[in-house]
Amino acid sequence: MKINSLFYEVYKDDILKCTLCPHECILYPNKKGICGVRQNIGGEMYSLNYADTTSMGLDPMEKKPLYHFHPGEKILSLGTWGCNLQCPFCQNYDISQEKPTNLRKVFPKALPAILENYENVHGVAYTYSEPIVWFEFVLDSARAIKYADPENYNVLVTNGYINEEALKLMLQYIDALNVDLKCFDDKIYRKYLKGSLEPVKRTIQLSIESNLHVEVTTLIVPTINDDLDMLEKEFIWLSSLSKDIPLHLSRYHPSYKFDKPATNLSFLEEAYKLAKEYLNFVYLGNVRKPEYESTYCPDCGVLLISRNGYNIDIKGLNPKGECENCGRKVVEV
Ligand code: SF4
Repeated sequence: MKINSLFYEVYKDDILKCTLCPHECILYPNKKGICGVRQNIGGEMYSLNYADTTSMGLDPMEKKPLYHFHPGEKILSLGTWGCNLQCPFCQNYDISQEKPTNLRKVFPKALPAILENYENVHGVAYTYSEPIVWFEFVLDSARAIKYADPENYNVLVTNGYINEEALKLMLQYIDALNVDLKCFDDKIYRKYLKGSLEPVKRTIQLSIESNLHVEVTTLIVPTINDDLDMLEKEFIWLSSLSKDIPLHLSRYHPSYKFDKPATNLSFLEEAYKLAKEYLNFVYLGNVRKPEYESTYCPDCGVLLISRNGYNIDIKGLNPKGECENCGRKVVEV
């Protein structure tokens, strides 16, 4: 379904410039942007995927992944199609780079009632594909969720590639984000992902400065970012924002246009050890090793949350999300 886009300007005559993300595509009449879901139709910019849902269901919060935000809860998760990056190893390429045929319409005003149908579910995650290019739908939905009950929460799982004005508008209704920081080298961002590094750093920084809960995921992809020097720069930068940012280092598996073998486990363990020198909460994803998935108190060392895949056992936290042993704040509840 198409609706008017919120972020664009006239470039010249009937040529438009999209200002939603840093690509700032120049669109001649009838042309679509890099994301494939914004189009110049008759001199106006339209979002083509409003209310188009590729999948919707309940997920564990840990699947986002968010390990320090309402741990053990379920969250209503929905996604659309389209993406403004073009990662050759995309793990969701069938919805990010193509338009699927089995789309279902879900409108923002229906979401609060859908949420109420579930017991003990209070949040919505915009996930699976890229919510930035679903901007108008996500904004309307996030508002509807909040207006229905201010205690409800909204989660973005995003590549963070968005312009500042749009980000600031969106963040007013968002409570938590997991941002994909795909590597820490601008040349690699440009060459392989067709984006750039600085806007993603700005999204992480602005979200933290807005007092939102932020976790970061880096998929470790052989030959792209399996470089300890580059990773160390990322860890140092994240720790300069906060040593408490949870970082998920995830194992890549061959997908889309990339057929390199899955990330070497011993390299992931090395990267984990290095990250722990700078950050308090580091996790390995897609490896199913509880010692790398569980949460320990960084002050007193007590095991707080034991994880084995999506089996979550909250052992040592009080109802405020603090370590029961020493009172250190660890998770948002
Ligand atoms: S949102 Fe899409 S059309 Fe707009 S600038 Fe980004 S890639 Fe281009």
